[in-house]
Amino acid sequence: MVNKRKTQQQLDAQEDYENPSRTRQQLPSWLQKQDLTEADLPYIHLMLASSFTDWLEEVDGFPWLSGHVALLHPDGTRISAVGHTEESDPYFVSWDANDIGHTAAGIALETCRPTLTRAEEHLVAKLKAFDSIAVPIFTRTTGIPCAIVACLLPAGTAQAGDLKLLQAAALHIRSCIYRHFENLFVGGLLRERKLSKKEESRRDILFEVLRRLNDHIDVENVLSEVLDSLEELYPICKADLFLSQDYNSPNEKVKPLAFHLNDMDLCKSAFLDGRIREERVAGRHQLALPLSGKQGVYGVLRLDLPENEFDEADISFLTMLAGAAGAAFEKAKLHEQANVMVGELRLINELTHRLNSSLKLSDTMQFASAELLSIFKSDFCCILQFDPLVQEFIVMSANVAEMIGETYSKDYGFCGVMWATKEPIILSDYCSATPVASQLMDVTASRSLLASPLLLNGDVIGAVMIAKNEANHFSYDNYKLLQVLSAHLGLAMSNATLHAEVRRMVITDNLTGLYARHYLNERIGRKQLRDTSGSLIVVDIDHFKKINDTYGHQVGDDILIQVSGIIRTSIRDSDIAARWGGEELAIYLPLLGLDQTERVAERIRHRVESETNPQVTVSCGISEWAIADDKVSVESLFYKADMALYEAKHHGRNCIVVG
Ligand code: GH3
Ligand code: MG
Ligand code: MG
Repeated sequence: MVNKRKTQQQLDAQEDYENPSRTRQQLPSWLQKQDLTEADLPYIHLMLASSFTDWLEEVDGFPWLSGHVALLHPDGTRISAVGHTEESDPYFVSWDANDIGHTAAGIALETCRPTLTRAEEHLVAKLKAFDSIAVPIFTRTTGIPCAIVACLLPAGTAQAGDLKLLQAAALHIRSCIYRHFENLFVGGLLRERKLSKKEESRRDILFEVLRRLNDHIDVENVLSEVLDSLEELYPICKADLFLSQDYNSPNEKVKPLAFHLNDMDLCKSAFLDGRIREERVAGRHQLALPLSGKQGVYGVLRLDLPENEFDEADISFLTMLAGAAGAAFEKAKLHEQANVMVGELRLINELTHRLNSSLKLSDTMQFASAELLSIFKSDFCCILQFDPLVQEFIVMSANVAEMIGETYSKDYGFCGVMWATKEPIILSDYCSATPVASQLMDVTASRSLLASPLLLNGDVIGAVMIAKNEANHFSYDNYKLLQVLSAHLGLAMSNATLHAEVRRMVITDNLTGLYARHYLNERIGRKQLRDTSGSLIVVDIDHFKKINDTYGHQVGDDILIQVSGIIRTSIRDSDIAARWGGEELAIYLPLLGLDQTERVAERIRHRVESETNPQVTVSCGISEWAIADDKVSVESLFYKADMALYEAKHHGRNCIVVG
């Protein structure tokens, strides 16, 4: 019976309802045109009963109040009756469907006319004591009977006037019915209006929340927005957000989704099947709304509130809100990830650029170590190189004093694990009885570890280890980033090592392992720019030609190696020994005076004579330079030493001459 009306009609209806002083004449015509239809009849029993009660109240003193008056539904049901009780009046038992056809009521309904039936015309025995009169009540526009008012009068007493009175009563009852109908109609409209208003405001709020959610491109703001909106909309509701990702939010209402906890069953199911879950326990209503985006479910929004607070519309609204929040969360997360990736790419780019800008291994590793400490906000870093000759890891760079210059066997510690597995390691807490020993972790009392092997063509050429004092410091993203950086670090380490090797080859004499002549020249030249003095010994093997002739070149070479070995072990680390050419060797001794140089030469001479096999002797020429000299040059230093050597040869060999 309640149809959708135009807004103006709704407004008019509301005014009618709220302003009872408006008379019926003032009723808007649209309302007067509203009417009961055939379809409404099965539902009007209660309304008829109320109307009958109203009429009775309004007609206090109606002449038949002492008689038997009843209101009937067109289906024959007796709605209400007055002036009797079933106990007190056995004749007024029922106006049921069986009897109605034989009474005035039945005939009135059938003929649609006021009807009077005399007692003797009644077929039912118990009604033969009464005359019955009845008047149908018609709907106001469609003209269908919606009720019958009937009355039983003692047999033979019914007058035409009684029928007139009943007709008047019928009109009165009809107006009572329509008053109820209008109230119900307007009430229905108002209810609908209220619902649609609520729906409208929900939509406004949802729109606003969506707009705000879309404004946020960082995850934290999205989460706060969702929780704040909920708090604003449903203050009685306790909201918690559980996230599945390893995400640490400063918002105390955002917690990790703990799958091991029993009280999380509702959230777990909602998370796993991505659908809303509800539970009503002990007067509480719990809802778990999945926070899902296109790529998956990110978490669950759990709401807890007193039972019966939410209706279906609230739930569908909240489902929409959770969906919007999921999409916004996903967007923010993707944005964040894209930012992280851009940052990481920039970092990798800068790092590789700088790693490759120096080819000196120690500089490169030191720089890398400092960068890694800052990138991963960690306390300790150690970079090791694997030496395949000795099968050991050598510490190339570390900010831990105890580890500088240390070597570790390829089976030891985390480096050992990485050597065997070629896989990176992420350790959240070293304290928790790990079976792997680690000097880095022990010495620094660190708890978190991030480590990666440095690989080149699938071989482990080194390792990088980063440690932090607190547990659970490194994330999976850190782990992935270190893996990428390690590839570049490995390449830089290999480049620097190769470069060092090439340089070593360039400045080293192949046969003797001493420096090459050009390197000695270069070093002396540089020393002469900085130092105040220095000396040079030129060593020449006596009668070397004879050695070659007697034993062959192979042995000659071996003698050269023996003499070089004696020289190398007879001088300081700061002295520079080189193969000057052929079987002539030279030693530059920075800042050493002639006396001491002579002692060094003598030691060499003596050792060569006594240690070589086949035995050879050497002659030595010594020269020196000082800052006070007129002319300081590498050439003059060699010239003087050469002259002295010449003299030594002249003096019978196996001796030393100071130039
Ligand atoms: P002296 O005592 O005057 O120095 O006599 P010497 O025989 O050593 O004479 P000299 O220094 O003129 O000869 C150098 C010889 O050393 C010539 C060459 O055959 C030999 N020689 C130079 N370089 C090598 C080398 O790399 N291996 C070998 N086996 N012999 C070399
Ligand atoms: Mg010579
Ligand atoms: Mg010689």
